[in-house]
Amino acid sequence: MTLPEQGPLQLLAQPSYEAGEPEYVYVGLANGEWHGNHLYPNTAEDSAHALAIVTDAAQDTVVELLWQAWPLCVEHNLGMHARDVEGLLSWWCAGRRSGGGPGHICAAVGALDTSRAP
Ligand SMILES: [Zn+2]
Repeated sequence: MTLPEQGPLQLLAQPSYEAGEPEYVYVGLANGEWHGNHLYPNTAEDSAHALAIVTDAAQDTVVELLWQAWPLCVEHNLGMHARDVEGLLSWWCAGRRSGGGPGHICAAVGALDTSRAP
């Protein structure tokens, strides 16, 4: 996942407090700052669930540290929310398209950069 002017987000591993426990993993900015909860190691067993959690944590970090909505819908300039759409985690925008109902799916999570290609 990438942010304009911020560089890529990164997963940061922090040692756990107890010996023998798995390390904590956070989603951080390129400069190493992070916010929010660490990710639970057992979520890795369910990749769709893990993606949802990483996405959530990434959004948390961006919103709290940069005070900006992210990612933005290119059509409406609105912050989008991750939503499960028929089993695929997707970015959902509340903006209304002409001729359509309120809200639309912008892209699958992880596919935003490719969706901008001409
Ligand atoms: Zn939109």
